[in-house]
Amino acid sequence: NQPAQPAGAKVLKVGAEATFPPFEFQDEKSKEYVGFDVDMMKAIGKQMGVEVQIVNTAFDGLIPALEGGQIDVIASAMTITDERAKKVNFSKPYYQAGLSMVVKADNDTVKTFKDLEGKRIAVQIGTTGAAQARKIKDAKVREFNSASEAYLELKAGGADAVVNDLPVNQYFLTKGGDKDAKLVGEILDAEEYGIAVAKKNTELAGKINKALDELKQNGEYAKIYEKWFGK
Ligand code: GLN
Repeated sequence: NQPAQPAGAKVLKVGAEATFPPFEFQDEKSKEYVGFDVDMMKAIGKQMGVEVQIVNTAFDGLIPALEGGQIDVIASAMTITDERAKKVNFSKPYYQAGLSMVVKADNDTVKTFKDLEGKRIAVQIGTTGAAQARKIKDAKVREFNSASEAYLELKAGGADAVVNDLPVNQYFLTKGGDKDAKLVGEILDAEEYGIAVAKKNTELAGKINKALDELKQNGEYAKIYEKWFGK
């Protein structure tokens, strides 16, 4: 492990909704924030010569916190959307994601998003998954504060499906969720994650893009990717 930044180094406050493994979550033992985004932001901070502090924030509170100056950056598996880009400055895309569905292991009727018409869908509040679920005809969409609560609702029989980011669904299933649930065929893969800074903070946006480029060139990004997603 690298030593911390020198005392007095500037602190970059990074907002993240930290129950979204493998991107940001709390390590059960150490209680430290860990994950792909956390490692990436630490590497970016190192590149910029600043210390990174994770501020756990509700997903639907991240953009308001950025606008209010409580945090400097959002790194929270946040999909770049036109609507969000009106309020924040996004970095270049740093991760290719997409949406998918998780249903109960014994469900053989849901294969596509259309199959969810009229069904009960659990989602995380304020997410692209929630927006997608709301587009489905007659679906009864219930919003939870975290993806893990949405998975619990599925398990408890209160929902027919969870619509959430593909890599997060996959991680949930490989970490034991597959005893009760499974991934369904259709995937909407046109989503990219971006790091967000305040609209007026173009200088910081530029520094983050530069650091991202450097991490891609020096192999650090690939190392972090492999740590969390394998080769
Ligand atoms: N990528 C999704 C979105 O931006 C979900 C992000 C999340 O829940 N952390 O809406």
